[in-house]
Amino acid sequence: MKVLLVGGGGREHALAWKIAQSPLVEHLWAAPGNPGIAKHARCLDLTMDDAEGLAGFATSHDVDLVVIGPEVPLVAGLADRLRARGLAVFGPDARAAVIEGSKAFSKELMARHGIPTARFATHTDAAAARRFCRELGAPLVVKTDGLAAGKGAIVCATLEEADAAIAQCMERREFGAAGATVVVEEFMVGEEASFFALSSGSSVVPLAAAQDHKTVFDDDRGPNTGGMGAYSPVPLVDAEMQARIMREIVEPTLAALAGQGAPYQGVLYAGLMLTKEGPKVVEFNCRFGDPECQPIMARMDEDLVPLLAAVAHGERLPAPRPWTTGGRAAVCVTIASPGYPGKYPTGLEITGVVDASLLPGVQVFHAGTARRDGRLVTAGGRVLGVTAVADDLPTAIARAYEAVRCIHFEGMHYRTDIGRKALGEARRS
Ligand code: AMP
Repeated sequence: MKVLLVGGGGREHALAWKIAQSPLVEHLWAAPGNPGIAKHARCLDLTMDDAEGLAGFATSHDVDLVVIGPEVPLVAGLADRLRARGLAVFGPDARAAVIEGSKAFSKELMARHGIPTARFATHTDAAAARRFCRELGAPLVVKTDGLAAGKGAIVCATLEEADAAIAQCMERREFGAAGATVVVEEFMVGEEASFFALSSGSSVVPLAAAQDHKTVFDDDRGPNTGGMGAYSPVPLVDAEMQARIMREIVEPTLAALAGQGAPYQGVLYAGLMLTKEGPKVVEFNCRFGDPECQPIMARMDEDLVPLLAAVAHGERLPAPRPWTTGGRAAVCVTIASPGYPGKYPTGLEITGVVDASLLPGVQVFHAGTARRDGRLVTAGGRVLGVTAVADDLPTAIARAYEAVRCIHFEGMHYRTDIGRKALGEARRS
């Protein structure tokens, strides 16, 4: 099989590593890829927004499967353009990817179909949004309607903070057009989990749950980032909870999309709050999480490629294997550039990646790296996702941090508590 992977971050490195292990795959290309992906795939000088270039490459090289990693090209309609050329694509069309592209769309779809989520209202007028905040009371959350690189949800402890968030989105337009419409919603209390399900349009199966660590500092302090680490599985999402999430959230959401002419072919990411009343949706995404994909790929003990291909061809998906809620545990620790999530320098030399990768169960996934004169250097805010798999979570955590300690670049920083929360939950359950 010939496979083309679109993307060049840590998530795509994990996908490339897993896809390359499949005995079904003879050729793997990545566009644009990164220095880590280059170990498993041939990296192409094509950007993710070059739909014509990607379609031309895939058709002229008889690509059997295109896997699209990130949300931006999906929301922009890359899957539609490739399918129109007769290609088999893993990733939803634009009319289904709108579940991530517009929070107003996804909240209204949930409200219409009784899918559990926070109480909300959508506003295009700042004064009306402020009035609704007073009706709801603090704490509350103000969200930009459109994509804002994970920074468009502002949790407000007071009404003054809510007023400032509305000004930031709607008056000062700090998120551009994405903030012209806002969703104001009730604050939910509980543990968060990222839940992933595969949908081929004709069938759906659960994949796994993971927990992301969004803030930059330990104990969930500091500003939000694109994700400082993740672990999987999540003790709170056992087989019973997984069945409930599928029944109450994933299946009705996919049926609702299909009912409005947008059957979903790809991975549906439900960001959940596990509240006292049950699981509720925080947000939907139209792709794998980054960094959640890294530990999920590390612990997945079946071939990913037949599942991706079945999704792309709209076929029936096989029943989930037991690893989805049990089996091995994996942890991914993000190493970030100095200053991230604020301004950061690039071009810092990275050492120790090879030593770290030699440790048992360890994979070092590249996110923001580049090769310069034969040296590996930093090229982004989140630089590496150091991932370890083991029979149990404490061992996976210990291995991941042992690997992190092998790696060095000037000013690097990382959280030291990835997965710690799950240790307490595992002991309680
Ligand atoms: P989102 O971009 O919608 O995933 O939101 C980013 C983060 O903000 C989530 O991971 C939560 O930690 C927090 N958040 C968003 N919406 C809510 C909510 N309604 N209640 C509590 N926390 C929320």
